[in-house]
Amino acid sequence: MPLSSPLYSRRSLLVTLIALLGCGFLATSFLSYYVSRTSIRDNIVNTELPLTSDTVYSEIQKDLVRPILISSMMARDTFMRDWVVGGERDPGQMTRYLNEVMTHYGAYTAFFVSNSTLTYYHATGVLRKIAPDTPRDVWYFRVRDMAAPYEINVDPDQANQNNLTFFINYKVYDYQNNFIGVAGVGLSVDAVVKLIDRYQQRYQRSVYFVDTQGRIVLTGAEGGPQGARVGQPVRELATLHDLEARLAEPHSGDYEYGDRGQRHFLNVRFIPELNWYLFVDKREDSALGDIRRSLYLNLLICLVITLIVLVLLNRVIGRYQRRIEAQATLDSLTGLPNRRGFDLLAAQAMHEALREPEPLTALLLDLDHFKRLNDTHGHLAGDQVLSGFARHLQSCLRQSDIVCRWGGEEFIVLLKDTDSATALKIAEKIRLLIERQRYAYEDKTLHLTVSIGLTTLQADDTLHSLLSRADHALYRAKQTGRNRTCVEMPHSSHE
Ligand code: GH3
Ligand code: MG
Ligand code: MG
Repeated sequence: MPLSSPLYSRRSLLVTLIALLGCGFLATSFLSYYVSRTSIRDNIVNTELPLTSDTVYSEIQKDLVRPILISSMMARDTFMRDWVVGGERDPGQMTRYLNEVMTHYGAYTAFFVSNSTLTYYHATGVLRKIAPDTPRDVWYFRVRDMAAPYEINVDPDQANQNNLTFFINYKVYDYQNNFIGVAGVGLSVDAVVKLIDRYQQRYQRSVYFVDTQGRIVLTGAEGGPQGARVGQPVRELATLHDLEARLAEPHSGDYEYGDRGQRHFLNVRFIPELNWYLFVDKREDSALGDIRRSLYLNLLICLVITLIVLVLLNRVIGRYQRRIEAQATLDSLTGLPNRRGFDLLAAQAMHEALREPEPLTALLLDLDHFKRLNDTHGHLAGDQVLSGFARHLQSCLRQSDIVCRWGGEEFIVLLKDTDSATALKIAEKIRLLIERQRYAYEDKTLHLTVSIGLTTLQADDTLHSLLSRADHALYRAKQTGRNRTCVEMPHSSHE
């Protein structure tokens, strides 16, 4: 089975790790994001929006109960009825009465419309006559004909710069139960508008009222969704296009719809007192902003951790790989490069020498009668001598020279930028040093000699041809008595 390259397996390890870390981090980040999102959505739909709707509704009820009571009291007031039955003689009396009601109860306005004279009285005087064909007076004739004792109507107040006002229109009957007019008070919707504004700003949700025909009737001070104005049909709002099919006519309930990629949650509630629908709408992204930011932060942290882990791992793997590679090219006994290491170094050195060009000399060294030393003193003694020899050999060389344990008790040296004459001097220096050297092993003193074959690199040499010449020279050194250096040139040979 072919071995996969270390580079490939390293890369695949890193890729696998990225995939594992990435998937793990992404899964946990997104899982927690989706769980939080679901709980936030549930909270919006089931709690937040209904709660807003409840509060707005109860605020409206609170605001309406008092004026309804006041209006009911006015409708039953004996002065009011006596004055109408008595022929509406002194309008000043009615005006005073209405003014008293208005100031005492803090109403925005107080009014009475007589059925027999169709006169509109209010707190500061007689306003005018009303007529069935005047659009702004239509309300009166509606109230006159309705069965219920009163209605709540929202209209611009004619007596007060047309400010939008809740009117309580109470039917008034005489003692024989004949309908004699409509009395009531008006209440500014400012309080409700302020409430809507507060909710919109504080909780980033849209709050507005829609009538049964689907027209917007009351919004915050800044208008409804997308600045929609009162009177505009809801279905014309671009944001509600998706919803329109399901909510052509308003119905109470909870809705979810999309608008240009944005999810919206909508709570619609019918307000029977007003015959209106209260819409409370919240955009999902405003609620999810926080958890989305924490998702991005999570992902960023995960990315940084993944990168740090990868960089550290890559460095550690690289270091170990280099160490293993170095070990694979070194001889464990002497610490010198082995044949594999030598091949790499020699190829580079030969290439440089031929390119410059510079002389390069090879020495092949073989310890003399090493087998005898082994046989006499044991293999361990031989090992110790071998490593001592390697140290001494190195001490005679420069840092730039290449030295290798070729195998057994044979060594090769490549002397860079060194001609044969200089190399011969170095070889002799080595030989003489080894000859003089003594090696202590246990209680014995060992010594040995070395034979050296020398040759210089030629332009047409390969490593093989260079080494086989050096081997010839070494052979001659052995043949001619050992402990000597022999030189072999391509076409000549001498000792
Ligand atoms: P010559 O002078 O002709 O070179 O004689 P020699 O005995 O040195 O030559 P030979 O090649 O016959 O013997 C080499 C010996 O080196 C034999 C082998 O046991 C020994 N040897 C090789 N490698 C090691 C080693 O790593 N440790 C030890 N202790 N001995 C080794
Ligand atoms: Mg040998
Ligand atoms: Mg030998």
